[in-house]
Amino acid sequence: MMSARPHWRSGNGRRPDLWAVVAIVLLASVFPVDLFPGGPHGQHGADGQFSGKQGQVLLVNLPIKGQPTEIVGRFLSRRVPFFQGASGPVGLLGIDMQDAPGTYELSVDVTDAQGGRRLRYNVLVSKEKYPVQHLTLPKDKVDLDDESLVRVKAEQEQVKTALEEVSPERFWEGGFIEPVHGTISGAFGRVRIINGQARSPHNGEDIAAPLGADVLAMNDGVARLTVDHFFSGKGVFVDHGLGLYSMYFHLSDITVQNGERVKRGQVIGKVGASGRATGPHLHWGVRLNGARVNPYALLTLPVGGTLSARQ
Ligand SMILES: [Zn+2]
Repeated sequence: MMSARPHWRSGNGRRPDLWAVVAIVLLASVFPVDLFPGGPHGQHGADGQFSGKQGQVLLVNLPIKGQPTEIVGRFLSRRVPFFQGASGPVGLLGIDMQDAPGTYELSVDVTDAQGGRRLRYNVLVSKEKYPVQHLTLPKDKVDLDDESLVRVKAEQEQVKTALEEVSPERFWEGGFIEPVHGTISGAFGRVRIINGQARSPHNGEDIAAPLGADVLAMNDGVARLTVDHFFSGKGVFVDHGLGLYSMYFHLSDITVQNGERVKRGQVIGKVGASGRATGPHLHWGVRLNGARVNPYALLTLPVGGTLSARQ
């Protein structure tokens, strides 16, 4: 049980269904794909079906015996890496905060001594309700000057390049923790419409906390990038392996170096208001193989007992 671990802080006092992770053990039998002639999005021909809301994380357990030599999972245009769990291959599938509602296919190519086969699962993505904020601001408060614009573009490129790297090793293990105690804003997915123009949705959660409070790594990983960016201020990007990244922004201080191994619960920085921030808070973001997911979706994943042994 997650609550039995004193260093896991999963309670955030919010409605659990908002942050709940749909964790589904796929019980379907394994059949060669050519027994199922159905189309990729059809209800027929799938080896199983599951569902989740935008921004959620699905835990996918494959009903496979033995040790396949290779497993390649794909969902939309994203890879879904698998690793060996206690009772078979396990993968984390991230539903991006803006994946359009609908039914999509998760395909999993499995190669073992007998050859290759493809498993197909239908994934029903449903809509999450995000807050919308209308703001009217003076134009000079909204538009960036040319110099800032160039800087922001370069910083976006730096982040994009860093997040595209997928470490083949899984660094994380066991459960995930909240990086700081504080007041959660509920801003994940919020869309700001400034002077009638929709901005990029807010891709993390903001947690208000005292200036200088410790910010902890949500799980084991490698501090892949430390930055001081125009919007996000002082930030740390932790690579947890297999395409999972966590981000910690607006820090007053960074206490890790690029390339340093970090442990779950290790202090990696201090809460601040650097960059564009109206007050001290932590912006906590999670990227899972390119999908922008709600970081709180990780806290309720049932990964404590079965996956604690690193493979
Ligand atoms: Zn934020």
